[in-house]
Amino acid sequence: MSRQEHANGRMFPVAASAPEGRNKKLWTNSHLDDKGYFFTLMPHLQLAMKEDFLHFIWRFQYFDKKDLKATSGELINILHPGFANDDAGPDFSDAKVVINDIHWHGHVEIHLCSADWNHHHHHHDPAYDNVILHVVWEDNKLIHRNDGSPIPTLELKHKIDASLKDRYEQLVETPLKVPCASSIQDVGNIVRLSMLEKALMDRLSKRCRTIHKLLVLRNNDWEETAYALLAKNFGFKVNSEPFLRLSEVLPLKILLKHRNSLLSIEALLFGQAGFLDQPIKEPYFETLKEEYLFLSKKYQLYDNRLSLVQWKFMRLRPANFPTFRIAQFAMLIFRHGSLFSMLLSIENPKTLLDALELKLCDYWQNHVNFGKTSAHKFSGTGKESINNIIINSAAPLQAAYGKYIDRQSLVDNAVNLLQQTPAEKNNITKMWKGLGLAIEHAFDSQGSIELYNNYCIPRKCLDCTIGAHIIKKGPWA
Ligand code: SF4
Repeated sequence: MSRQEHANGRMFPVAASAPEGRNKKLWTNSHLDDKGYFFTLMPHLQLAMKEDFLHFIWRFQYFDKKDLKATSGELINILHPGFANDDAGPDFSDAKVVINDIHWHGHVEIHLCSADWNHHHHHHDPAYDNVILHVVWEDNKLIHRNDGSPIPTLELKHKIDASLKDRYEQLVETPLKVPCASSIQDVGNIVRLSMLEKALMDRLSKRCRTIHKLLVLRNNDWEETAYALLAKNFGFKVNSEPFLRLSEVLPLKILLKHRNSLLSIEALLFGQAGFLDQPIKEPYFETLKEEYLFLSKKYQLYDNRLSLVQWKFMRLRPANFPTFRIAQFAMLIFRHGSLFSMLLSIENPKTLLDALELKLCDYWQNHVNFGKTSAHKFSGTGKESINNIIINSAAPLQAAYGKYIDRQSLVDNAVNLLQQTPAEKNNITKMWKGLGLAIEHAFDSQGSIELYNNYCIPRKCLDCTIGAHIIKKGPWA
């Protein structure tokens, strides 16, 4: 291990980077039962132990810190537990610990038993040279760094309140879909809100990453990226994939060359979508077809068009038919040109309502498909669809662009937008409402969906503020 001797006699290990591709969370099979639990030989808890729980205990320091000593006898004073590391390398970085009056600054590694250090080959891994403390449930082996120096080990098996672990097990072992369903009402509103906010920010970050990937696929062109994002959104789940594909086989820059002709925009969109391959005898249809044949030859588009069978109509309300949505999308491009600017400028649902107040051409005011009239007169985009576009296109695009150009105000605007948009109504939001969570705006509904899918279902209660609050009522919490 490389270290620097400080002038005042304190030692500071130098940070080292972790090697790539290392399998970080290996379990030691000899200690596991078929559920992946470690059974301690020690009598005082008589409980199964999992490494995640030990991480949780260390992260929040939920153990008795009185007379803390390493197993080799040195006095230990923890100044800072460090920051959890989700990537390869030691479990916590930047920890600050005083061991026998010497200040240490470096990594902390957590294991169920100290022998796991060697089982995981850390003794040959330079990324672990800067581990200053090995925290284990049970110390069963003297361990060393790569350079042969021993690592102080802190054993926690006699330091943790058994009821803490009881509460943890009760929480994660219940078969309920939401393990905390019976106790969440006892958790204060501030804790619940802070977890919803955390989940919402997780969701927004994930969406930003998806948009940044899309941006790369669209040659770092934000106009094409916004067009693709909005196209996918106009497919409203059932037809989102063919809509996205349509934006691939028909770049926005071609449509914008015909910005002043709704007929050309419709011809290009319907033609590339494959809808003009039908034997329909109607003046509007035949005009579109003629225009498409001319433009597709000009831009060499014809061979890349989609097929009619890729579009779904089954179980959709007529207002959601892909034909009708393509007609709206064509009108949107005709009216706004730059979809990127339009989405970035949205400050509240009313702005989008105005932007999507689209009066369709005469044909689509009383048709839902080519050759199929409807007694119902269709107008602009419905309120539910507008909210959907704010949630899935406008807010994520604003946040993604804000992160891309490092402008926090755009990220804040995205969050504000969600706070002004009504909540989605689905089984997940309904379930949370039944458990007493206030789901008023899209900010809450989006956060609650993320919470359910990515915390409750995978049982990540230890990473959840609500779970941590329920588990923590021990004497050292
Ligand atoms: S993840 Fe959080 S909200 Fe979900 S069940 Fe666990 S404690 Fe409850």
